[in-house]
Amino acid sequence: MSAAAPARDLSRFAINQITTPSLDLRAAVEMYARARVGGIGVWMQYLEGMSGAAARHLIRDAGLFVPCLCTSAWVNLTDKAAYGAALDENRRRLDLAADIGAATLVVVPGGLATGETDIAAARCRVEDALGELLPHARATGVALGLEPLHPMYAAERSCLNTFAHCLDLVERLGAGTGIVADVYHCWWDADFAAGLRRAGPERILSFHLCDWLTPTRDVYQDRGMVGDGVIDIAFYRQVLDEIGYDGPFEVEIFSKLDWWLRDPQETTSISVERCAPFVAPRQVRL
Ligand code: ZN
Repeated sequence: MSAAAPARDLSRFAINQITTPSLDLRAAVEMYARARVGGIGVWMQYLEGMSGAAARHLIRDAGLFVPCLCTSAWVNLTDKAAYGAALDENRRRLDLAADIGAATLVVVPGGLATGETDIAAARCRVEDALGELLPHARATGVALGLEPLHPMYAAERSCLNTFAHCLDLVERLGAGTGIVADVYHCWWDADFAAGLRRAGPERILSFHLCDWLTPTRDVYQDRGMVGDGVIDIAFYRQVLDEIGYDGPFEVEIFSKLDWWLRDPQETTSISVERCAPFVAPRQVRL
């Protein structure tokens, strides 16, 4: 008689719903709950036509937690009226995050403004915008989660590109901010592990899992399934354990050339199998 496999503790593991983009919120919640994962990362577009309270009930009734709402609206705008409107939109998204029970709003602030070449100025504007949003974030209890994005994204999507830069911002901004660390965006960075150690567990809000394929055919939408690429995820799991990280692990795979084309059930079950070895159990400090 063979011994039973040890029970897996996936209570800290969430699937970001962009991993199975063909599913609406209800279908994603049902599928992830059946897979016995702990949580779901939610995207704005899947909340259209549904109140925050309804989404919260749907998710909570399935027993899932929400590590994050993706994403903030871009704030890196030079037009004053557009900038003010973007701040208002982000306050609305913070309210929505609170309504659905999300711990964090993932901040993707935009790259350069149209025609701009001064990335230092862009980064200053982003810091100012985060400072303006911070009182509302603190009031709602939803953290502003700064996610460093790969430098290839700097011009068009986010001028926050290294872990160290984001951590500097978090240190200056203070309570109500933290880092969303994603192996896809940070694995190449010689200072990534040192950054995780400098951040410590309290400033890492979530840890995103996927892999970097060689070759990568589309830097935005050709992420690999965990285990199919070149990222040493076991090493980062070890660093997180060493520092006593006790937050969520979240698989997030943008893959229009592969995983988005598959049956969401297959993508879900393979995500769980591949990520399980890298997800720490609930009480990592015991
Ligand atoms: Zn991410």
